[in-house]
Amino acid sequence: MLFKDQKLRTDYADLVDRRIKEVRLAHTGAPDLDSLRADKLARTLAAAADSPRFSGSLARWRDKEPVVRERDEEPSAFIEKTLAELPILTRAEFRAGSREVFTRPVNEFLHYYESSGTTGDPVAAPKALEDLAANTINIGEMWGRVLGPSDSALILINGPFAPAGYQFEKVLEYLGLLSVRLWVDNVTGDYTRILRLLRELSISTYVGSPSRLLEMLHFAYRHDEPLPRFRKLMLLAEQTGPALLRHLERLTGARAFVGSFGSSETGTTAATCEHGSLHLQTQSYLFELADARGIRLLDRERADRGELVVTCLDLEARPLLRYQTGDLVEVSGIPCPCGVALPVVRTLGRAQDVLRLGGDHIRQEEVESVLWGENDQDLAGFTVLNYLLALRKSEVVCLVTTDREPTAFGLAAIRRRLATVFHGRRLVLRTVPALPPLASLGSYLGWKLSRLVDLDDQALTDRLPPPIAEIVRGSLADIETAAGPRPLPQLTGGA
Ligand SMILES: [Zn+2]
Repeated sequence: MLFKDQKLRTDYADLVDRRIKEVRLAHTGAPDLDSLRADKLARTLAAAADSPRFSGSLARWRDKEPVVRERDEEPSAFIEKTLAELPILTRAEFRAGSREVFTRPVNEFLHYYESSGTTGDPVAAPKALEDLAANTINIGEMWGRVLGPSDSALILINGPFAPAGYQFEKVLEYLGLLSVRLWVDNVTGDYTRILRLLRELSISTYVGSPSRLLEMLHFAYRHDEPLPRFRKLMLLAEQTGPALLRHLERLTGARAFVGSFGSSETGTTAATCEHGSLHLQTQSYLFELADARGIRLLDRERADRGELVVTCLDLEARPLLRYQTGDLVEVSGIPCPCGVALPVVRTLGRAQDVLRLGGDHIRQEEVESVLWGENDQDLAGFTVLNYLLALRKSEVVCLVTTDREPTAFGLAAIRRRLATVFHGRRLVLRTVPALPPLASLGSYLGWKLSRLVDLDDQALTDRLPPPIAEIVRGSLADIETAAGPRPLPQLTGGA
């Protein structure tokens, strides 16, 4: 970061030093982490009291006296009691007025961003200097364990409104590594130039979403371009389970990591270590888990699962308090062999990304473990590169792209395995030369909206913003064509 103003330069250098010290302390599991978090919580609430949203409910925090008095308590008790008094902020409530949490005029932020907002109104996610520094250092201190001096990265994140591309560029800067931040047209999906640069610059690392990477690989297959090879994949923005990770490793020769987890509005709540574990950044967030049983503070020593509720401790410019993320996670309660004391989390996808078919609840990982399970590839003689599911009456149509001409034997085997996931439905498997662009929009739409199309849901496209809706409408027409004739009513029974 370069600043003309000398005082700003000096203050910023101090801030960075302080943050790095805090993060490294948190990695060691030092017992004073709770004290740091309690201080940050009190500061965050005092800042929040200056925002239109919280000025009424948190007015007393503007006065330093009661804050100092309450901070005499044990830090962990203070955190638990204080949090419990705050209301939960749902995504819908936040979306209805996301700028109301600003504690300063918008021109005092450094960069303006919004979430991609494809499933509803976008929310404001500008970056102020302090939170940008905190987030960059949090990720950088973790990724520094994975990336070395010989690494360089392609950042391929199509999303000019959202902060992710810029944020990861800052992380690579923090690590002193070369990065190339590129963009591909969402509609034409022409990767020629990107593939050329990957070769010419011997880029070692991919930073972006799995579905974007799959689309680039498929483009290379179709256009007889050499397949890009990577050493490391830092995947983000989409739910990525073990089967998808292994699939991408086989295709690229790389080691695949779920690089980070979070959202435009909260920042990065977890980042990977060299063992491929996502570590929650507890120096910058308070985490709670919510489910039908209620809500509780996440305990790093106890296995638990639920919807992640986040209180940001390094986001004084626009505090988010007890924000319901909609992300389902599970914590193992087991220390990671890397030695970082921060709790390990596994993401289970968005709460709404479950396909309910009759009485069955089908998740992304079930479908992908069938398509990309270990040892299945060689038997079939070809590899399924990517997929898209279309629901139509009682029929499930699975469109797949493959790396070479599929055998009838192999396709029948895949169909049989997929049928076990969608029992009671007629399952049709079709190979197509290319999937519609919709399939690469997972980071905007989530799994269900990007890979799973209900052809009987007329309202589907009405819920999406215009540019994406256009792509989806085009995709639906393509899928109808590719799926073949609709099933006759008397033929719909059985799998
Ligand atoms: Zn670890």
